[in-house]
Amino acid sequence: MPGSLRIARIADIDIEANISWLIVLVLLTWSLAVDWFPAIVAGQPAATYWVLGFIAALLLFVSVLVHELAHSLVAKARGLPVKSITLFIFGGVSNLEQEPQRPGVEFQMAVVGPLTSLILGGIALVLGGAIGRAAPLAAAVLGYLGIANLLLGVFNLIPGFPLDGGRVLRAILWKASGNLQRATQWASRVGQVVAYLFILFGIWQFFSGNIVSGLWIGFIGWFLLQAAQAANSQVMLDSVFKGVIIGQLMSPPPVTVSANLSLQELVDNYILPHGLRSIPVVRGDQLVGLITLADIRKAPREQWLQAPVGSVMTPLERLHAVRPQQRLNGVLPLMAAHDVNQLPVVDDAGRLVGMLSRDAVLRYIEVRHGLGLEVGRQTPPPAKSGAPANMSAANGDRGGAVA
Ligand SMILES: [Zn+2]
Repeated sequence: MPGSLRIARIADIDIEANISWLIVLVLLTWSLAVDWFPAIVAGQPAATYWVLGFIAALLLFVSVLVHELAHSLVAKARGLPVKSITLFIFGGVSNLEQEPQRPGVEFQMAVVGPLTSLILGGIALVLGGAIGRAAPLAAAVLGYLGIANLLLGVFNLIPGFPLDGGRVLRAILWKASGNLQRATQWASRVGQVVAYLFILFGIWQFFSGNIVSGLWIGFIGWFLLQAAQAANSQVMLDSVFKGVIIGQLMSPPPVTVSANLSLQELVDNYILPHGLRSIPVVRGDQLVGLITLADIRKAPREQWLQAPVGSVMTPLERLHAVRPQQRLNGVLPLMAAHDVNQLPVVDDAGRLVGMLSRDAVLRYIEVRHGLGLEVGRQTPPPAKSGAPANMSAANGDRGGAVA
């Protein structure tokens, strides 16, 4: 997550705090100090309420961390590597390197989080009740933690994917149907309905005068909606492109030009006669960049005779070059994120071996559709000569996330 800072390392898992988490820490401390604790334990100096608020807010985040650790430790015990846990504005998220491969594992992983929160909540309430009159301030903090953890547990059990309850639902549907894609589709639809309900409830609260909580609930709904849609499209993409590597979809290498060529020659001999808009640039047999019409315009017209292509091209390190043996799944988000229409494909020796275009990817989907190859039923990808047998996933890691 951008804007995250590592704060600890527990059981080989990096614990990160997002900058948005600090904002919530401040807001929560403030609302506890001003509203909550004065109502629970009256007659204390303001400073006491602020200290109580701060301690309670910190302990709530510890509770969220324990909830996430429960997910992550079960994931690790089931052989799924966990990269990190991030605390952010809506709580926590465990970043898995891989999604569970069996419904049973997903079920256990998902359900353990809310269970942990419910148990923590129960313990805090019992403890708070026990020390009650003897230590009213500590009891007030424990009481707050008890209620907050119970709410956290119940909220996460709402069956909207990607909330824990939605993952439990998906695991059950997955087990029942044997089809992960269909189960995800359904769980994601339920998740979207839940998200819209949150948004509607938020709007209603807003116009009933509860402006802050209305905004907050609406915001959570919006977040859930994004997450449900993203999770669904990720699984759909994975299913369509499962096992497909770039080498299978790339087109042959196009015309290239030398980095030493002058811009004038480039325009006269390549750009104008062939109507090209971008040309890969090589030095010897190495790909070193790409020259586009926009790059050429950067050089004043009177310098075109002398200026070499290499001086104005977009250099290789800004091109996101890919390798033929990379899986397509790992590369599509890259294309989408940078809004590029094509990526140069280079071999291990740095030579240009082809281009991967967005059109080729779309054509592949159309052809599959035209052949009636249903999404979610896999046919083995056609073996292509020259493609390495070892489909190592240099970039194929998928970051799964459990909130
Ligand atoms: Zn959770």
